[in-house]
Amino acid sequence: MRSIQESLITRLKVPTKIGNKIKVKKCNNCGNIRNPPRTYCNRCQGTDFTEVTFGPKGEIITYSSSYKRKATDKQRFFGQVRLFSDNGKDSMGLGGTFDVESIDELDIGQKVELVADDRYNIFKIVRE
Ligand SMILES: [Zn+2]
Repeated sequence: MRSIQESLITRLKVPTKIGNKIKVKKCNNCGNIRNPPRTYCNRCQGTDFTEVTFGPKGEIITYSSSYKRKATDKQRFFGQVRLFSDNGKDSMGLGGTFDVESIDELDIGQKVELVADDRYNIFKIVRE
């Protein structure tokens, strides 16, 4: 119970996702990146932060698909993506779903972009 109350108090009342970008806090003391952002750093307890914007560019770290029970079931593809900061100096992992028709379109290291969506983290493949 105590941890639930604490997390509500330290949660920042700001939207993290703005369009196809994500704004998080980076600790100025130890460099820890916290998403969703809180009022303190969970690595060094520091409270001095810089705001860093990530996305939309990223690359696939890992991926998987949902189980298809029937041939008519719609299969979903999800995984982790490494999103890069605006200046390219930082990266962070973000989970979400991939906007693809087949798992064959996915590969580790594949370039993706975060899609602007208020509710879900959706990634689309970037063709070069
Ligand atoms: Zn820190």
